[in-house]
Amino acid sequence: MTKYKAMIGLEMHCEINKTDTKVFSSAKNGYSSKSNEFIRPLDMAFPGTLPVVNKEAVRKALMASIILNCKQPEYLYFERKNYYYPDLPKGYQITQETKPAPIGVGGVLTYDCKDEEKTVRINNIHLEEDSASMDHFTKMSLIDYNRAGVPLLELVTEPDFRNSDEAVAFLETMRAIYQYAGISDADAKKGQIRCDVNVSIMDSDLDESNPENWGTKVEMKNVNSFGSVKETIDYEIARQIALKESGQYDEMEQQTRRWDDEAKETKYMRGKVDAIDYKYFIEPNIPKFKLTKEWIDEIKSSIPPLQRERKEKYVTEYGLKPYDAKILVKDRNVSDYFERVITSGIKPIDAVNWITTVILGAVNKLEISIDEFFITSDILAELIGLVDSGKISKNQAKNALYEAVQNEKNPLDIIEEQGMEQIQDESSLKEMVCTLLDEHPKEVDDYLNKGLTNVVNFFLGQVMKQTQGKANPAKTMELLKSELESRR
Ligand code: ADP
Ligand code: MG
Repeated sequence: MTKYKAMIGLEMHCEINKTDTKVFSSAKNGYSSKSNEFIRPLDMAFPGTLPVVNKEAVRKALMASIILNCKQPEYLYFERKNYYYPDLPKGYQITQETKPAPIGVGGVLTYDCKDEEKTVRINNIHLEEDSASMDHFTKMSLIDYNRAGVPLLELVTEPDFRNSDEAVAFLETMRAIYQYAGISDADAKKGQIRCDVNVSIMDSDLDESNPENWGTKVEMKNVNSFGSVKETIDYEIARQIALKESGQYDEMEQQTRRWDDEAKETKYMRGKVDAIDYKYFIEPNIPKFKLTKEWIDEIKSSIPPLQRERKEKYVTEYGLKPYDAKILVKDRNVSDYFERVITSGIKPIDAVNWITTVILGAVNKLEISIDEFFITSDILAELIGLVDSGKISKNQAKNALYEAVQNEKNPLDIIEEQGMEQIQDESSLKEMVCTLLDEHPKEVDDYLNKGLTNVVNFFLGQVMKQTQGKANPAKTMELLKSELESRR
């Protein structure tokens, strides 16, 4: 790849699922296994209905715009993108193109890729409505309008990525931003994130700041997992280099392709001549709205600590290793779980060990989100508390957790049922020790008069045997020694 370099630009769609209602109607913004449950007449494009802008959606879009260091426009406006498709009953999508100005333009974002800091320029971010979704069967298709009108953010980067690792690292950073800012759950599995990937290659020695030197853009539509984004880019770079090497690259037309996940290749969809003219114009049913400096400032000050800040706090304030801190902040739900555990008084360093090993191990195996896990942060906190106070040993806690995961049981119940709690009670332990010493005069004599100090271990073993391992070993040892000495 030294002869050529890749130019990669991303268009990332993310549903804002953290508003109560849709972007232009009062229908609930949510998921339902029941089709067409969350709909209002506007979402079906009934005659006479008019859009009403959801201020909360605009607020969240502005928050994203501010985080991406974009410039916000003086006035908010929307535009119509005209085309017909059954999932779009109005015959147009309400969106924002680049004229006069979407909710954010000209931003820049710093992200980490393999522990190296990178930056990407943001061309723009805009707010639009999602379409309905369709289920296709052999003889018919069904339309579900639950998704119609869900607020959607589209972010367009400049072609600043040079390889698939950078592109994926950026997408992961964006997903975290949306999650930590409370804009979206950004769950690709639920279709909340969708990406278009643009790839071209150019000779390495040419000046990339001059767009005339760029190669021909190939766009891959709707690549829906980060893994597929990586595969798409790697495949497309190799395909385009092969064309270059065989002298066919210059004839290649600008085109739209798609990623075929079964064949593991990109497939041609349409060329430039088939490009659709969307006949954009300003949406006349939504009056322009002034975005005051006061409102923007208020939104700016309400941005919660994001991934980077949380990670920094974990390292500097809680003394966690950067590696562990990174694991915790990767997913906001995990970071929140960790924070709930330590708010109940558990030391951060203890909490992180349990979470990164047993808890995340189980969650990953079950392929669920940590907040769907039946071992809640409260249960874990109580369990660690039992270890800290010496009621059970670390090993017992670990065993209870493993057994809990296997049998989907509450580990605290397992501890109780199996009587794992250690015997701490001094008087009952002392009684046991005295009886034991009375029953073994020879061993006591060995200890007192022959200097065979190892005998204490024999006695400790006896106590453990009698209590089925439940006696607190340190306490028992202490009692044994003092009782033996008192018989001198
Ligand atoms: P269009 O007008 O066809 O949608 P844009 O200029 O808006 O194209 O760019 C869409 C995306 O394609 C952006 O992410 C941009 O960075 C990327 N892009 C543009 N030109 C190239 C290129 N030559 N190679 C790779 N990506 C490109
Ligand atoms: Mg575009």
